[in-house]
Amino acid sequence: MKELTCIVCPRGCRLTIDDDLNVTGNSCPRGAIYAKDELTNPKRMITTFMRVKNRKDCVVSVKTSSSVPKGMIFDVMNEINKVGVDAPTHIGEVAIKNILNLGVDILITKNID
Ligand code: SF4
Repeated sequence: MKELTCIVCPRGCRLTIDDDLNVTGNSCPRGAIYAKDELTNPKRMITTFMRVKNRKDCVVSVKTSSSVPKGMIFDVMNEINKVGVDAPTHIGEVAIKNILNLGVDILITKNID
């Protein structure tokens, strides 16, 4: 038996998961999906910064388009740190497509002229 707090939305339901991965305490189906993923293949969204190559001392905020396996977070961060983007940047632009073949894009989250 495991207990988790669902982090999918601010309600923060307390989840209980039995040995057969049956979930109780969730107020919606997303909580059950989260609990099963968390115990079998935990994932996280990444928000960070990326270098802007054609501006001095400038970075732009970026995020993953969906969550990545927890064990891949440092690899994804290393890849983001290797690559830079050129300004101008626009919110929603893809900075890195399908990073490390995870099926996840790195998206720009700030406009820079
Ligand atoms: S179970 Fe549903 S309602 Fe409860 S915190 Fe998770 S997403 Fe929100």
